[in-house]
Amino acid sequence: QSNLSAPSSFATCQTLDGMEITLYGNVGLSSDLDQVLAHGLAGVGLFRTEFLYLQSEHRPDTESQRRIYAQMSDRLGDRPLVIRTFDLGGDKLPPFLSKDENVDASSLSLRGLRFSLAEKDLLRSQLNAIVQVAQQAGVSILFPMVIGGHDFAQAIEMVDDVVEASNAFRRPQIGAMIETPAALFCLDEILELANFIAIGTNDLTQYLLAADRELSAESDQVTAMHPAVLRAINQIAAAAKRWDRPICVCGEEAGDPEFAELLIGLGIRELSVSASRSESLRKAIAQIDSTKACDLVQRAQDCRSSKEVRDLLRSAKQAET
Ligand code: PEP
Ligand code: MG
Repeated sequence: QSNLSAPSSFATCQTLDGMEITLYGNVGLSSDLDQVLAHGLAGVGLFRTEFLYLQSEHRPDTESQRRIYAQMSDRLGDRPLVIRTFDLGGDKLPPFLSKDENVDASSLSLRGLRFSLAEKDLLRSQLNAIVQVAQQAGVSILFPMVIGGHDFAQAIEMVDDVVEASNAFRRPQIGAMIETPAALFCLDEILELANFIAIGTNDLTQYLLAADRELSAESDQVTAMHPAVLRAINQIAAAAKRWDRPICVCGEEAGDPEFAELLIGLGIRELSVSASRSESLRKAIAQIDSTKACDLVQRAQDCRSSKEVRDLLRSAKQAET
């Protein structure tokens, strides 16, 4: 049962053996939605809202945010829209924050949810906008860089406050991104509180392998295919199953057909990718046998490096042809 509950006419694709995989789009700017619609994707699995304001000199107000989210939700119609709250801090600081001397702009400053919890007015204003739009079904809230039950519970409490203060009748579904090593050790306490989770393989890989996330495009060693990352995803998927919570993978690597095969082998059925990669991904998924993908990923988790995993996938493919 998908949390995002996409109508079946949209972008469900099937593996060779008939397993349904749902493809959503990642968006940053409102204009990215054109591509999501053009490719017939099942909805938006990740809206990176901070992208709207990275160049802004002024703090965004609730109404301007509400209009953007409402327009996006209207264009999606029945399709789900997962709005991630601002993932700011570190290198992601808009001018309105970097000019503020009370904000720590160092690279190891607070990130994601903890940055938002330190900037409560900004978060509350955003939650207000989201809660208003989320009175239509299908709009949910996702918190970035959750590290455990404590920060996630604080975030949920703020949503509840906003719902109550605005007399909203509907409390949106709330999800946590699993993308920090800390979250891996706190899965049960996060899942107990979450309506759904989303794995961010960009940051999960970066922080597990201690290598800048930009490197994975060029490297054959520090990628999401590293056995440590695969084992982590395996644990997350198993925990989500235990708690019966929907799970989606939304890092860039989910759009890589070889990596998608591993994800399917790990039991992942929902992927959120950049729309431009969705056509080739859909075609590749149609060639995947999910039982074989399960066997393959068992062997991949026993490898010693990303490169060994990639070689394993390639030799398995060659053996088939
Ligand atoms: C991720 O970290 O994989 C993710 C999807 O979030 P972002 O790329 O916005 O950090
Ligand atoms: Mg991330």
